Amino acid sequence: MQIPASFDYVRASTVDDALALLDRHGPESRVVAGGHSLLPMMKLRLARPEWLIDINELYELDYVLRDGNTLRVGAMTRHATLLASPEIFRLFPIVADAERVIADPTVRNRGTIGGSLCQADPAEDLSTVCKVLRAEAVIRGPGGERVLSMDDFHRGAYETAVAHNELLCEVRFPIRPRSGSAYEKVERRVGDWAVVAAGAAISLAADGTMDDVAIGLTAVGVAGTVTEAEDLLRGRHPQEDLFLEAGRLAALASKPIADQRGPIDYKRHLADELTRRVLRRAAARAAEAQEG
Ligand SMILES: Cc1cc2nc3c(=O)[nH]c(=O)nc-3n(C[C@H](O)[C@H](O)[C@H](O)COP(=O)(O)OP(=O)(O)OC[C@H]3O[C@@H](n4cnc5c(N)ncnc54)[C@H](O)[C@@H]3O)c2cc1C
Repeated sequence: MQIPASFDYVRASTVDDALALLDRHGPESRVVAGGHSLLPMMKLRLARPEWLIDINELYELDYVLRDGNTLRVGAMTRHATLLASPEIFRLFPIVADAERVIADPTVRNRGTIGGSLCQADPAEDLSTVCKVLRAEAVIRGPGGERVLSMDDFHRGAYETAVAHNELLCEVRFPIRPRSGSAYEKVERRVGDWAVVAAGAAISLAADGTMDDVAIGLTAVGVAGTVTEAEDLLRGRHPQEDLFLEAGRLAALASKPIADQRGPIDYKRHLADELTRRVLRRAAARAAEAQEG
């Protein structure tokens, strides 16, 4: 299939307008942001919305704003904007690491953080990034606004807590002092989805021990973060033998499936190796942030 089933199209001008349109057209309506996940699914007839509500004119959801110890990112912020933001690069280098390896400039110019999180593809890079940074999702609907942790937001593959008449409006990232983060992905060719990827964020206490650690894996069936490895590292000084053990625990926690991207053993090996690498890099960046 290359041609979507027929649908009606309407353009929303504000968030309130989009919510009213979703309410009016019911569960068979879908919003379209960058369209880079939804349109391929429509062409394959995996999605058959009767109404497509275009939210590309919701400029009110396209922003990166510092608000005290929180970085607020509007749901319509494009991948390209995230990649180009010096503030994001400084505070959360993991975002730039991930964005550099998401698809290609064409996709990054249109695709949005909101669309990525709402698509909830198990291989979506930004889902892991947001979990590792302990981000929160701000959702608006007819009942008002609610704020969810990423664990509550993601309910499984291609499933989120966003109801058919709600919109993801903002993603909030807590800013922690003396923090560093990193992401690394193995892909079959440039711009492809992950075979496996790993992300880590580390915050250091005044004595140099790891105050908080978060480790996430992409495309290997891990829903939340790798708590076994995080518990091992928390309260300890960053050191290589701990990172080796954390990699081993991450590989154990992974539940890869064999597919065209590789066999199970290979993916487990990647989970182990990539976890060590991102921990090393996140710890080095946290140490630099401490000095700076
Ligand atoms: C060739 C190609 C390669 C790609 N490679 C990668 C990759 O390597 N890594 C990666 O992570 N991604 C990859 N992507 C996906 C890309 O990141 C998309 O931009 C992203 O998945 C979806 O964002 P979007 O804005 O295009 O969402 P859309 O396709 O417009 O929407 C996706 C879903 O989210 C819903 N939605 C969108 N915005 C909202 C909102 N604000 N509130 C509620 N629901 C909403 C839509 O209704 C739809 O169900 C690739 C895509 C393509 C086409």
